[in-house]
Amino acid sequence: MNASRRDFLKAGLAASAALVPVPAFAQGAGPRVVVVGGGFAGATCARALRHADPRIAVTLVEANPTFTACPFSNAVIAGLRELPAQQFTYERVAADGITITRGTATAVDPQARAVTLADGARLTYDRLVLAPGIDIRWGALPGYDQPAAAQMPHAWQAGEQTLLLRRQLEAMDDGGLVVISAPANPFRCPPGPYERASLIAHYLKTKKPKSKLLVLDAKDAFSKQRLFQAAWAELYPGLLEWVPLSKGGNVTSVDAATRTFVTDFARHTAAVANVVPPQKAGRIADAAGVADRTGWCPIDPVTFESKLQPRIHVIGDAAIAGAMPKSAFAANSQAKTCAAAVAQLLAGATPAPPKLINTCYSLVAPDYGISVAGVYQPTNGQLADVPGAGGVSPSEAPRATRAAEAVLAEAWFRTITAEVFA
Ligand SMILES: Cc1cc2nc3c(=O)[nH]c(=O)nc-3n(C[C@H](O)[C@H](O)[C@H](O)COP(=O)(O)OP(=O)(O)OC[C@H]3O[C@@H](n4cnc5c(N)ncnc54)[C@H](O)[C@@H]3O)c2cc1C
Repeated sequence: MNASRRDFLKAGLAASAALVPVPAFAQGAGPRVVVVGGGFAGATCARALRHADPRIAVTLVEANPTFTACPFSNAVIAGLRELPAQQFTYERVAADGITITRGTATAVDPQARAVTLADGARLTYDRLVLAPGIDIRWGALPGYDQPAAAQMPHAWQAGEQTLLLRRQLEAMDDGGLVVISAPANPFRCPPGPYERASLIAHYLKTKKPKSKLLVLDAKDAFSKQRLFQAAWAELYPGLLEWVPLSKGGNVTSVDAATRTFVTDFARHTAAVANVVPPQKAGRIADAAGVADRTGWCPIDPVTFESKLQPRIHVIGDAAIAGAMPKSAFAANSQAKTCAAAVAQLLAGATPAPPKLINTCYSLVAPDYGISVAGVYQPTNGQLADVPGAGGVSPSEAPRATRAAEAVLAEAWFRTITAEVFA
């Protein structure tokens, strides 16, 4: 081909490229959304964004190669289940065309719209979704710092801590005292400490029946309380004792070396000590300037956009979601709502007010389940209960109903983890 014909062809190709509309995504120029945190909230949101609009380039930043789920981790502690049943990889998430970046986000520059990772890498975004879950407020309970967790595990972030608490229970002599301390609201999984108390009581009843379990609580009321207490009276009489705030249950300090809990009125030295400590949003929320003085993140209930920083959305446990509890179900529900809103905002549309749902199952014994469900909608700038929707398991029910709810609980876990990770 001579030079003039080649030039003519080149010019023609350049002209047609300018005239034929090429999808922005094919050019790699679709809007960029970075999601920090690949848990129930973040992984769901990343996938829902790609499904909402495949032109959106989604990057998911996650610190760990494998996700370890908290729901059902109380069953691992009680020896009813093994940790690998809680673990999930990101292969299927990546197969949706999501870029998985393994690393820890350490800083956010809202003006430059950039996230910095621990290794110095910098990711720019059009919209950022933060889904970092919780961090422990080390030192908020005097004596409970990071080294103390090796003696008195929290097991409130599943993984090594879950196994540590299980091993301590297994090593305990029959006749030992197990103590769990539960924090004031708000915290991850409101029924979680009571499910844990139930399943540890089940372990003690079946394996170490001379032992005792004490729950020291910073509150006078808790989720599904009447159902839990009725079940405890039936299943664990004389074994499990719950001490509310008004009866001196509030723990004011701990001594990790002796596994001692100090309250206003007493000291309890445990053979096995489980501290469910005060919590806050995962620390990147603070670094991004989206956490308020409570340590949690105020959000717009329609879009989950931060009330403190534009173009940054916060979902899952880290968010202040009004009446919605901090649960995996809620995180998944919020993530889908947020993804739809982000896709619409990027397309220049206005998201409509959503309705969100939550159901939390708890096991009181392996074959005894109870649940609470709710429906939520934006009301006066917050997520509030939809009146008349939701409810709890019946207080009077045959054991067959409780057994059926235990089966439903497992089915829920299989379904949600399949949706998020498979
Ligand atoms: C004992 C227990 C039992 C529970 N049982 C239930 C239940 O039965 N049902 C239910 O619905 N909920 C349950 N929950 C609550 C549930 O686990 C949480 O509400 C849920 O995990 C919240 O999801 P999330 O995505 O906000 O946070 P997570 O699931 O914790 O995910 C956060 C992710 O972000 C990553 N991350 C954090 N910071 C960074 C960063 N800076 N850079 C990169 N990655 C980062 C973390 O590694 C993690 O993978 C339970 C919790 C506990 C502790």
